[in-house]
Amino acid sequence: MADEKVNCIVVGAGPAGVSAAITMARAGLSVVVLERGEYPGAKNVQGAILYTQMLHEIIPNFWKDPKAAIERPVTEQRLWVMSDDSAIQLGFKSDRWLKEPHNCYTIVRVPFDQWYAKKAEEAGATLVCGMTVSDVIRANGRIVGVKTHDGEQLLADCVIAADGVNSMVAQMAGLRKELRSDEVALGVKEILAMPREKIEDRFCLERGEGATNEMLGKVTQGMLGYAFLYTNKETLSLGIGCKLSDFQRTRVKPYELLEALKNHPIVRRLIAGSSSLEYSAHLIPEGGYHSMPPLYADGILIAGDAAQMINPTHREGSNLAMTAGKLAGETVIEAKRRGDFSARTLSLFRKKLEATYIIKDLEDHKDVEEKVQKIPELISVYPDLLCEAAYEYFTVDGLPKRDHQRRIIARIRRQRGMFQLLKDAFRLRKVI
Ligand SMILES: Cc1cc2nc3c(=O)[nH]c(=O)nc-3n(C[C@H](O)[C@H](O)[C@H](O)COP(=O)(O)OP(=O)(O)OC[C@H]3O[C@@H](n4cnc5c(N)ncnc54)[C@H](O)[C@@H]3O)c2cc1C
Repeated sequence: MADEKVNCIVVGAGPAGVSAAITMARAGLSVVVLERGEYPGAKNVQGAILYTQMLHEIIPNFWKDPKAAIERPVTEQRLWVMSDDSAIQLGFKSDRWLKEPHNCYTIVRVPFDQWYAKKAEEAGATLVCGMTVSDVIRANGRIVGVKTHDGEQLLADCVIAADGVNSMVAQMAGLRKELRSDEVALGVKEILAMPREKIEDRFCLERGEGATNEMLGKVTQGMLGYAFLYTNKETLSLGIGCKLSDFQRTRVKPYELLEALKNHPIVRRLIAGSSSLEYSAHLIPEGGYHSMPPLYADGILIAGDAAQMINPTHREGSNLAMTAGKLAGETVIEAKRRGDFSARTLSLFRKKLEATYIIKDLEDHKDVEEKVQKIPELISVYPDLLCEAAYEYFTVDGLPKRDHQRRIIARIRRQRGMFQLLKDAFRLRKVI
C-alpha cells in the first residue's frame, strides 16, 4: 500500500462508510475502505431495525435482491411500559406496512454488513479487512492520508472517518475528544434461536411478517434507557441499552441487567424454549446535537456514529449513517470536480446535512434527554403507577367500580399528587 494515492480513504465498513464508498465508486473515484474487523460486521452491533427509505436511495429496491440480508418486514410495533410483574401495552399495526416498500426491516448486522460491503466492491471500491487505522497523516496542516496498525501509509485527496462511536480517526484529526460517559449508552444484546413457526405463533404474525417490542420502566432498574425484542427469520434479538454514566452510578452490571430482562415474566414467556447464539455489547453515541463535532476540516469528513448522528428517541442510527455516508460521498465527488479538498469545499457536507432530516431531527431532539432527566419519576414511579391503575381498572372482584377508581386516585395522591401529575403530563407533552 506504501506511496499509493487514491481519491478517498473511507475508514470503517459500517453503514456510513459503505454508503460513502458506493456513492463515490459509482462516480468513478478511486476508493479504499479500511475495516479493522476480519470481515464487515465482525465488530458491529445493532438492535436491529433498518429503515427502508435511506437504503432504497442508495440500492434502489434492495428488498427485491434475493441475496439482500434482511430478515422480516415490520408490520407491528409495540411499546410496553413495565412494572416488575406487569406491562401496559401500546402498539400500532398496519396493513399499509404490508405493502412494498415496507417501512422497515429487522436485520442481523453480520450478514447485512457483508452483503452491503459487497455492493461497494461491485461498484468498484477496494475493501481491505483486518486493517486498523492507527493515525492520520498531515501535510501543510491538512489530512492527506492514514497510517495503519502494521506501519503502512496510504495517501488520499480526502479521508472519510466512518469509524463509529469511538472514532479514533476524528480524535487523531483533532476534531473531537473522547466521549464522556454521559454522552454514550451501553447496549447489550443476545441473539436467540427459535423456529420460524414458533416466532410467528408467539408474536401473532403471518408468515414472513415481523414485529418490534420496546420496553420501558422497571426493566432498566432506574437507569435512562430501554429494552427491545425484535423478530428475525429464525432468531429473536433481545437487548437493553442504558446511559453509561447510569451504569457507573448504579453499579448494575450490563449482563445482569440483560439476565433480569430475560427473567421478567412477560419476556420469559416470549423467549421460552429459545437458545442463545450470540452475546454482544457496544456503545451508542447519545450526546446528540450538542455533542456533534465539527463535521469537516481540510482533507477530512466525519459521518455516522463517529459524528454522533443518532436519534435514540426513534431508535434511528443506521439510517442516519447511510444518508450521511451518501452525502459525504457526494461532497467528495464535488470536491474532486473542483479540484479542492479544503474545508471550504468540504463544508458543503454540513449544508447538505442541514437540508435533510438528520440535522433537523437532531436539532429538534437536542433537549429531550435533559427534559426526561428532569422527571426521574418517569422511570421510578410512573411505570408502577400505570400498571397498578390498569390492574385496578381491569380487575373484577365484586367491588363497585367507584371503589376501584378511589383506590387509583388514592395511589396517585400518595405517590405523586394530582397537581404534580398534571405538571408532569404538561412537561412530557413538550418532550414528545
Ligand atoms: C445495542 C444497539 C442497538 C441499536 N439499534 C439500532 C436500531 O434498531 N436501528 C438503527 O438504525 N440503529 C441502531 N443502533 C445504532 C446503529 O448500530 C449505528 O447508528 C450504526 O451502526 C452507525 O453506523 P456507522 O457506519 O456510523 O458505524 P458502525 O456501524 O459502528 O461502523 C464503524 C466501522 O468502523 C470500523 N472501525 C472502527 N475503528 C476503526 C479503525 N481505527 N480502523 C478501521 N476500521 C475501524 C468498525 O469495525 C466498524 O465496522 C443500535 C446500536 C446499538 C449498539
